[in-house]
Amino acid sequence: MKLADDCVCAEVKDGKMYCANYSIVTFSTGVLQAAIRGDQNSVKFEPPLPRWKQDAINHITPIVYGKIFLVFPTTFWNEIDGDQQLLGYVADEKGYYGHYILDKNRPNTITVDVSGNLAIKIATQSQEETVNEVMAILRKIFNNVTLPEPESVVISRWHLDPLFLHSYSDYGPGVPESVFDDLLKPVNGRLYFAGEALNSSNYGNVQGAYGTGVYAAQQITGTSNSAGVPQATLVCVFVAGVLSLLSVVQ
Ligand SMILES: Cc1cc2nc3c(=O)[nH]c(=O)nc-3n(C[C@H](O)[C@H](O)[C@H](O)COP(=O)(O)OP(=O)(O)OC[C@H]3O[C@@H](n4cnc5c(N)ncnc54)[C@H](O)[C@@H]3O)c2cc1C
Repeated sequence: MKLADDCVCAEVKDGKMYCANYSIVTFSTGVLQAAIRGDQNSVKFEPPLPRWKQDAINHITPIVYGKIFLVFPTTFWNEIDGDQQLLGYVADEKGYYGHYILDKNRPNTITVDVSGNLAIKIATQSQEETVNEVMAILRKIFNNVTLPEPESVVISRWHLDPLFLHSYSDYGPGVPESVFDDLLKPVNGRLYFAGEALNSSNYGNVQGAYGTGVYAAQQITGTSNSAGVPQATLVCVFVAGVLSLLSVVQ
């Protein structure tokens, strides 16, 4: 990204340059923090982002969250109520393969949610090791049936993908509102920023990202009002819906 006094340009891999009066940067937190560190093959800002912008970006905590999809030859669980059912498993080790999603729209499939150190671990260990670990827990949950082996497995690795390098953003307690002001503030009046991490009331989700995108566009076109970033009226229905179906198996 090249920022000049009269324009901002994005140079892409094949060397083509796209220039405009304004640009809205929506790289994820992982990509922005890699750029600030100057990691190999990371995005480059010329000139480098000012210190106040770098400090604000470095305030964000990138969270690693992933999913394991196991597709079985048959369904070995009882018919579920509604479209989705969440099974919780409480292991001795906190967060160890604790969430399983059964979804009517994904036949014969169990989706396992993983986060933190476990998500980092499974991204680097072999698929076989991960499947063995998950199957050991599933055998405890479904202890009255003989489980088939999964015939297909997909494991996400967002934090290793150079286009993401994290999953979503979080903040430590007591993050000052000025951090969000600096995250949203354009550099040199031309380089604007948007994305889930920048939304003080809705970080970590799609509606938060959307609100900051609308806000950046309004700033550029001079149509924003004093209310700041528009907040989506949608609440995280997906979380509420899933949690209401929670059943804990031990
Ligand atoms: C497993 C998982 C489950 C989730 N579930 C939910 C959910 O149920 N509900 C919800 O609201 N949110 C959910 N989220 C969070 C949600 O996905 C994010 O908050 C949202 O996608 C953020 O949008 P964004 O536009 O800020 O960033 P992103 O969606 O990360 O978009 C950034 C874009 O920048 C592009 N990019 C990066 N580097 C470059 C480069 N060098 N050159 C060109 N392009 C580049 C990427 O390709 C990408 O398209 C989930 C996230 C994960 C990982």
